[in-house]
Amino acid sequence: MAARCAASWWKPTVPASAPRMSTENGPCASVTSSLSLQDVKIPKENLLPGTEGLKSALMCLNQARYGIAWGVIGAAMACYDCALQYSLFRKQFRDQPIASHQLVQQKLAWMITEITKAQLLALQVGRLKDEGRVQHFHISMAKRNNVWMALECARMARDILGANGIADEYPVFRHMANLESVKTYEGTHDVHTLIIGAAVTGIDAF
Ligand SMILES: Cc1cc2nc3c(=O)[nH]c(=O)nc-3n(C[C@H](O)[C@H](O)[C@H](O)COP(=O)(O)OP(=O)(O)OC[C@H]3O[C@@H](n4cnc5c(N)ncnc54)[C@H](O)[C@@H]3O)c2cc1C
Repeated sequence: MAARCAASWWKPTVPASAPRMSTENGPCASVTSSLSLQDVKIPKENLLPGTEGLKSALMCLNQARYGIAWGVIGAAMACYDCALQYSLFRKQFRDQPIASHQLVQQKLAWMITEITKAQLLALQVGRLKDEGRVQHFHISMAKRNNVWMALECARMARDILGANGIADEYPVFRHMANLESVKTYEGTHDVHTLIIGAAVTGIDAF
C-alpha cells in the first residue's frame, strides 16, 4: 500500500462512502463512520513526498497513541477528583463520610498512585521523543498502561459514587464509556501487549 493523498475521495464521482455509525455507548463528541472504498484508483501524482508505503501511514499512529497516553490521564484525574469530593460529602452509617472507611480510602490511594505513575511514564516517553530515541514499543507501553489505568480509575470512581455513578449528573460514567472505546482504538490493549512482547523476546506472537 502506498501512502497517497486521496483528496478526491469526497467527490461524488469516486466510489467511496463513509456512513455514520451510532456511538451512543461511546464517544459522542466526534463523528465515527465506517469507510468503504470500491475500485478506487489514486493517481501517482497524488503520492505523498518522502513516503515508504504502509510504514509511513502507520508512523502517524505513534503520535496519536502518545497523545492518548496523556489524554486519558485527564479522564482519570476527573474521575478521581469526583470520587474524592463525593466520598467526603456522602454520609452513610453513623453519619460518617464514606471517605472515612478504609476500603474507600484504599480505592482513592490506588487511583492517585496509578495516576502519578502514568504521568511519569508519559513524561519519560516524552523525554525519549524529544531526544529522538523513542521506539514504537515505548509508546505501546504508555498507551496500554495509561488507558487501562484510566479505565480502572473510572470503574472505581463509579463504584464509590454508588447508584449516582451511573447518573448523568456526574462525569464518571461518561468517561468510563469513552475509555472503553479508547481501550480498543489506536491499537487494542492486547495488541499492544503483543508489541511489547515482541520487543522484549524478539518473537512476534501476532
Ligand atoms: C470510537 C472508535 C473510533 C475509531 N476511530 C478510528 C479511526 O479514526 N481510524 C481508524 O483507522 N480506525 C478507527 N477505529 C477502529 C479501531 O482502530 C479498531 O476497532 C481496532 O484497531 C480493533 O480492530 P477491530 O475492531 O477490527 O477488532 P479485531 O481486530 O477484530 O479485534 C477483536 C479482539 O481480538 C483481539 N485480537 C485481534 N488480533 C489478535 C491477535 N493477533 N492476537 C491476539 N488478540 C487479537 C483484539 O485485541 C480484540 O480484543 C475506531 C474504533 C472506535 C471504537
